[in-house]
Amino acid sequence: MPHDITCPYCGEELSIWIDPGGGDQQSYVQDCEVCCRPIDVHVAQEESEGFAVYVARQDE
Ligand SMILES: [Zn+2]
Repeated sequence: MPHDITCPYCGEELSIWIDPGGGDQQSYVQDCEVCCRPIDVHVAQEESEGFAVYVARQDE
């Protein structure tokens, strides 16, 4: 399912794709389409509905 995130480097909004079958906790690296820097993406599946998505810079 698509999910909008904000790049922690440049602040641009990006649309990423979350695989609902990928497990309750997922983390991976997504390169920003705008500034091309690597974003740490953490996805936690919520019991009620949907996903909580957190993004972090790799240099912090
Ligand atoms: Zn960016």
